[in-house]
Amino acid sequence: MDAGIEAEHCVIVGGGHAVAQLTASLRQEGWSGPISLVSAEAVLPYHRPPLSKAFLCGADSDDSLLIRPRDFYEKQSIDVRLGVRATAIDRGARRVTLDDGTALGYDKLVLATGAQVRRLDAPGATLANVFYLREIADVHALRAAVRPGARAVIVGGGYIGLETAASLRKHGLDVSVLEAQSRVLQRVTAPEVSAFYARVHEEEGVRLLTGVAIEAIEGDDQGRVRGVRLRDGRWLDADLVIVGVGVLPAAALATQSGLKVDNGIVVNEHARTSDTDIYAIGDCTRHFNPLYARWLRLESVQNANDQARAAALALCGKPEAYRALPWFWSDQFDLKLQIAGLSEGFDDVVVRGDPRGTRSFAAFYYREGRLIAVDAVNRPKEFMLGKRALSAQQSADPQRIADESIDIKDCFVM
Ligand code: NAP
Repeated sequence: MDAGIEAEHCVIVGGGHAVAQLTASLRQEGWSGPISLVSAEAVLPYHRPPLSKAFLCGADSDDSLLIRPRDFYEKQSIDVRLGVRATAIDRGARRVTLDDGTALGYDKLVLATGAQVRRLDAPGATLANVFYLREIADVHALRAAVRPGARAVIVGGGYIGLETAASLRKHGLDVSVLEAQSRVLQRVTAPEVSAFYARVHEEEGVRLLTGVAIEAIEGDDQGRVRGVRLRDGRWLDADLVIVGVGVLPAAALATQSGLKVDNGIVVNEHARTSDTDIYAIGDCTRHFNPLYARWLRLESVQNANDQARAAALALCGKPEAYRALPWFWSDQFDLKLQIAGLSEGFDDVVVRGDPRGTRSFAAFYYREGRLIAVDAVNRPKEFMLGKRALSAQQSADPQRIADESIDIKDCFVM
């Protein structure tokens, strides 16, 4: 690296998975100039997946979730400013204004502002004991209401809704899930996989209502939730309501400063925005994915980490294009769901195993005869081999996939 780069100041806005990876990768790749990290959250970057799982019903400390220990930031000379929000970017002056009355000049700026929850639009949605689950602070608020025997109504049958339902059920709460669509996980899985998750949740004692609309959340005279009324007239008693109805990219700062934003901050294969001195990584971004030949906004840990690495390489003068295969996972009860690729747009699904009578199977998604994604439930081999094939843009023979007498290794067209 030349002397000019060494002196440059990198300012990072955000405090999630992408930021933990970016700070480490920047130093690893040789960024020796100052790095400032500005995060609106009061906690150093932490693992978000446990929030809807063990952390929700346990008594673990915030420190147990930290992605990197406190002293990492000190050792790497990172100027950390927690509980501070960036409010404006002056691109001409290359300066970020913060809500603590200060401003930071930058040579390079990285936006890792993540996503924010979609708010529920229903009467009573602001009552006490209506919770969201995105940040550690949300879980602190929730934990006080989570006690065995309490009646929880969860709005949204996506990953947040189902993972939270599983955690609360295991903790002895009475749990109902309300989903607006006709099936759970509708946007991300095939009907066979939705039906499987519905069956398991019901077997575990979760009450699942699909195709429902909320009329109102009603409270008592102290302003606390007492129940949820549905548009079809049904009533559910509730001590708490948890809303998981999706997220929106947090791109306001980018929009205000005139960066190109279109359902996320638009970035190139090096995570660079429409301003050559500003990068963006993680849930707040939208990028063109060469494997799927389309623009994607991914809400995932994988994308946060891999895009952070791509940004660090570009910032350190060693650009390598980002072309990772998207992958995800979800833990519910004894089910480990691992997803490789994106199933959106599939025209055929081949199931390996028995999703009706067992808790282990894999769904292989095809489009025009080509494999595009795999959902594997308690099937790590199918996931691993599927992920490898998809990354290499190779397919799998659907007839062999469906035949469990054939070893999974012998099903791929390599
Ligand atoms: P999500 O996956 O978008 O699911 C939300 C679900 O709620 C959708 O099916 C949505 O239907 C439905 N919904 C919307 N409005 C509703 C209403 N008024 N009443 C009832 N249902 C309604 O979002 P999420 O579960 O909130 O998760 C938030 C983000 O965190 C996502 O990016 C998710 O991928 C991520 N996350 C990931 C994991 C994981 O990978 N394991 C775990 C937790 C969270 P529509 O499609 O019609 O809007």
